[in-house]
Amino acid sequence: MAMPAVATRSTVLVVEDEESLLFTLAHNLKREGFTVLTATRGDDGLRLARERTPDLILLDLMLPGVDGMQVCRLLRRDTKVPIIMLTALGGEGDRVAGLDTGADDYITKPFGMRELMARVRALLRRSSPREEAESGPSLIVSGDLHIDLDRRETRRAGAVLRMKPKEMDLLLFFAQHPGRVFSREQILNDVWGYDFFGGPRTVDVHVRWLRQKVEVDAGNPVRLLTVRGSGYLFEG
Ligand code: CA
Repeated sequence: MAMPAVATRSTVLVVEDEESLLFTLAHNLKREGFTVLTATRGDDGLRLARERTPDLILLDLMLPGVDGMQVCRLLRRDTKVPIIMLTALGGEGDRVAGLDTGADDYITKPFGMRELMARVRALLRRSSPREEAESGPSLIVSGDLHIDLDRRETRRAGAVLRMKPKEMDLLLFFAQHPGRVFSREQILNDVWGYDFFGGPRTVDVHVRWLRQKVEVDAGNPVRLLTVRGSGYLFEG
């Protein structure tokens, strides 16, 4: 199945002064097929946003030059470009303030790349419905599993599965790449991303949890298979 990348030629501007995070974000966005513009200062981000009219902006809150809030406010005077605020501040007030400036969504650091990419895709889908046709499915059906990418909701035989965010990320990852074998390291890199400090055992544990939800007999999996010496494979 094709990756459900939204409008793969969409341009995303990332304004982030933390260079390792900026690099990781740019790398992941490019891998998803986006054209990526980057800035490490608020004023540079503002200038790029106006000159290059990106389809979406990932905007850090604390930035040198002009801070993220101010960038957001200034942009909102003349553009409706979707903006996701990246914030290290977890307080409710900061979140609300971020949205009050006109941001469409926010995500609190540290965050996983899968979740961020899902939000990017969802926001692009909302902002450009005419691109729906080329944006790929927002619903993945695999046997009796129905995975709604936009709502991040999985139903099995009609019933909603209660899943932890990382279980959902992991299932999405597998469901988007049926029939392919992935090593634990690949899965860690893709699903857990830059903010992860654990080891490959984490993948095993989550696979075990996931099997309890998506397999008829978790001890005898037919969907999420172990490939000895290689990793895991999702049969769908
Ligand atoms: Ca910052």
